[in-house]
Amino acid sequence: MKNPIKITITGAAGHIGYALAFRVASGQMFGPDQPIILRLLEIPQALSSLYGVGMELEDCALPLLHDTVLTDDPAIGFRETDYAILIGAKPRSKGMQRNDLILENAKIFAMQGRSINEHASKNVRVLVVGNPANTNALIASANATDLHPRQFTSMTRLDHNRALGQLANKTNRLVADITRMIIWGNHSMTQYPDIGKCLINGTPAYDLVTRDWVIDHMIPRIQRRGAEIIEARGLSSAASAADAVVDHVRNWALGTQEGDWVSMGVASDGSYGISEGVVFSFPVTCKDGEYEIVQGLGLDNLDQSRLKTSEKELLEERAIVKDLLPKGR
Ligand code: NDP
Repeated sequence: MKNPIKITITGAAGHIGYALAFRVASGQMFGPDQPIILRLLEIPQALSSLYGVGMELEDCALPLLHDTVLTDDPAIGFRETDYAILIGAKPRSKGMQRNDLILENAKIFAMQGRSINEHASKNVRVLVVGNPANTNALIASANATDLHPRQFTSMTRLDHNRALGQLANKTNRLVADITRMIIWGNHSMTQYPDIGKCLINGTPAYDLVTRDWVIDHMIPRIQRRGAEIIEARGLSSAASAADAVVDHVRNWALGTQEGDWVSMGVASDGSYGISEGVVFSFPVTCKDGEYEIVQGLGLDNLDQSRLKTSEKELLEERAIVKDLLPKGR
């Protein structure tokens, strides 16, 4: 039997964490022969709820789940962990300005970056979901001074999957028929869902849909999908977000399909003219636990201006949190 993989989930008693923990523990992230140790981290006020999650996990009698640690202590939560999935974040409270929210969360992710640096496996892979996810990933990475920025990513996979769903629905094809979707940029309203490289059973997507539909309907719908779900359910999306976490980590760890790619927020290396260091969503291929940004994709003027708009927003977010970034990061 394989050695168990240790996976930390922060904010594990929250909506997304609750939807995620059972999927990870039942083998959907790493496969049916990979034992799991879950380390579920919460803030002290949410510990009682977390104990309930622990009881339910126990009641599932999941054969792959070798141990579950429930804690409010980051030193225990991140101890020797192989994968840290950072979901817990402060929601915007009434009257709070966007910059204040970014700063409040920045403090949490700076602390978590330091704790991961000190306690996690030196090969740890970190996925940030808590918003503003791209900038929180930058802060955590910058504060994990012994780890490489390539070990930190942020999630745009839900936006990627939403775009696949929209396109499949519009063209009356299966999601499995579509390859080469891209989400560029920030996980925010400035993100750019780009179907310009998409193939549907080998046919360019733009042979099957009009640019007007993409610009007037598809892109705004993906950008506002979170709000649409809140309006319908009275609650934010959680199951689809957890599903996207599973997809993101599984592809990162186990690889992407030949001939296809996925979207991940990663530290820019200057690809496509994006400032180095900002965590920007690019198309990536993954193999053996490493990702590579897909190079050489042609971008027209409109594409480039959309990338620049999102980059500008990320540079503004970075400026807001600059005091929490150790020099040079
Ligand atoms: P959720 O589990 O619904 O969301 C958690 C975070 O994920 C939020 O920042 C949310 O952003 C973000 N997110 C990213 N993508 C999505 C998406 N598609 N849909 C919804 N959210 C998305 O929040 P809960 O309030 O239910 O749970 C948060 C948990 O975190 C609580 O249990 C709380 O105790 C814990 N927590 C931990 C902290 C810490 O570790 N120090 C600090 C604060 C809270 P957005 O708000 O923009 O929707």
